[in-house]
Amino acid sequence: MNRAGAGRRAGVTVRAPGKVNLTLSVGPLRPDGYHELSTVFLAVGLHDVVRIAPAARLTVTVRGPGAAGVPDGDDNLAARAVRLIARAAGADPAVAVRIDKRVPVAGGMAGGSADAAAALVGCDALWGLGLSREELRLLAAELGSDVGFPLYGGAALGTGRGELLTPLGTSGSGVFHWVFAVSPQGLATPAVFREYDRLVRTRPAHGERPAAERVTAVADALDSGDAALLAAAVKDANDLQEAALSLRPELADTLRLGPEHGALAGLVSGSGPTCAFLTESAPAAAALAGALSATGR
Ligand code: ATP
Repeated sequence: MNRAGAGRRAGVTVRAPGKVNLTLSVGPLRPDGYHELSTVFLAVGLHDVVRIAPAARLTVTVRGPGAAGVPDGDDNLAARAVRLIARAAGADPAVAVRIDKRVPVAGGMAGGSADAAAALVGCDALWGLGLSREELRLLAAELGSDVGFPLYGGAALGTGRGELLTPLGTSGSGVFHWVFAVSPQGLATPAVFREYDRLVRTRPAHGERPAAERVTAVADALDSGDAALLAAAVKDANDLQEAALSLRPELADTLRLGPEHGALAGLVSGSGPTCAFLTESAPAAAALAGALSATGR
């Protein structure tokens, strides 16, 4: 997570990256109602911009292409993050939070979680708290399973509910070019997990690859910087994809279009409905984006 202007009392601006899950293995249901997860997060270039500035009281303003449907009151995840870190630090949560929303909302790219992580980082800098990344991660875990990852960025293995993070190396030259096909209507993550549970109950197990095998294949591919290797590694590696497709059958058509227009791989991002396509180069990504737009996606 990048931060600009840290320490300047006028305010702090933080970049809040969206993510794609390169693997997402759903394990058994735990007593607390969450599934045990193993997932490889990858931060992507598509990001929100979160600005935190001193103010008379806590306010949230959301603007930008994705602003519709994002709460601008106490329910905004960034506002919850401000209140949490203020309480932990004994500080007054009097800041104006301004979110420039670009990551699709309820799109499976954890944009709200990234905004919350940005708010933690921003308040830490604005108030000069000097919290360690581990201290911030513990606060993040109280806000949601996906809030910790943007504190790390890059690529990381998430276990537990996804909140226990182990950074993964990516080779210096490893730039990957993604195209995202965004749906006009989001999907609520709990609904996708419910559909996953329903599908698992109604059909025999069909031999998903073990989580560790998926993680190793993706980690090796990230390290190699080879897009074709990564494309092979992400194939059928998201256990929530079937559930997302069951709730939104039209996503299957979107996923089919990607490879027809040069994508090396296509997958549902996290719980969906955003579809992520890996391409071999920036020109290939631009061509695919154009082709998908032409079909209305
Ligand atoms: P994940 O991949 O972590 O499951 P998601 O990408 O599907 O998340 P988000 O966009 O992070 O979903 O947000 C889900 C819901 O949270 C939205 O429907 C919205 O009502 C609420 N929300 C609260 N604060 C925010 C925020 N700052 N940005 C986006 N959504 C927010």
